[in-house]
Amino acid sequence: MTEGTGVLQGRVAIVTGGSRGLGFAMAGGLARAGASVVVAARSADAVERAAAGLRASGADAIGVVCDVREESSVASLVTATVERHGRLDILVNNAGINIRKAPDVLSMDEWREVIDTNLTSALLGARAAYPHMKAAGGGKIINLGSMFSRFGASYAAAYAASKAGIVGLTKSLAVAWAPDDIQVNAILPGWIDTDLTRGSREQVPGLAERVVARTPAGRWGRPDDVAGIAVFLASDASDFITGAAIPVDGGYSALG
Ligand code: NAP
Repeated sequence: MTEGTGVLQGRVAIVTGGSRGLGFAMAGGLARAGASVVVAARSADAVERAAAGLRASGADAIGVVCDVREESSVASLVTATVERHGRLDILVNNAGINIRKAPDVLSMDEWREVIDTNLTSALLGARAAYPHMKAAGGGKIINLGSMFSRFGASYAAAYAASKAGIVGLTKSLAVAWAPDDIQVNAILPGWIDTDLTRGSREQVPGLAERVVARTPAGRWGRPDDVAGIAVFLASDASDFITGAAIPVDGGYSALG
């Protein structure tokens, strides 16, 4: 990494769910662009490993344990970041889970777990970050939606509801905080090869092949496929883009 030349030099970013998968790839992209990154997840070992991996390639990175379902835990994450770095410029609300069950057998606890982890967490993170971004005169909030922000599946009622909700939340925060020069956007990844979708491939017969057949690019996505859009949405290059939901899907959602 070249010292001092990245478009995000001097910026400070939090990536929830940054210990693996898309979050780790986006944290790497932000760090390569010059940002100091804080990766957050529930597993202390995993966040420490992720931060050490980022530091090994020259990044300024730390891991913080956080459960995004808990308001106090999210508030502590933001406080720890601001205490260490004196600012918070970029928040990536990425932590997410899926519980694959038919809607008639999904328990209400399971419904709430998915909604709390994937959707309410983004409001908690954004609200904790807001005063710091407002005081600094601007900021960037990036929320992770999905193809399930647009489509449904028999096993994805809670997940799809949470991801469609992310788009509505993104637009509302974007409108509310545009006067503060805070841009809020969503990334809608297609099918990317991570631990999360490995579960889907194991539980949903034929899914791996169907995704390749349905994706114009003819392949599954790789976590690094979302790193570039995260850097763009975190940088000054996207200052007039807010409330958008941008697919990164190899053409999946373009195919009629
Ligand atoms: P993943 O590999 O399963 O990683 C999920 C991350 O979230 C882990 O770091 C996990 O760490 C963390 N996490 C889960 N629950 C958490 C909680 N309560 N508090 C804090 N951290 C938590 O998933 P992924 O595939 O990278 O997905 C990342 C995001 O992209 C999710 O929002 C997902 O819905 C979205 N997405 C993924 C795809 C895809 O194809 N992979 C497609 C569309 C959208 P701990 O378990 O240690 O907490």
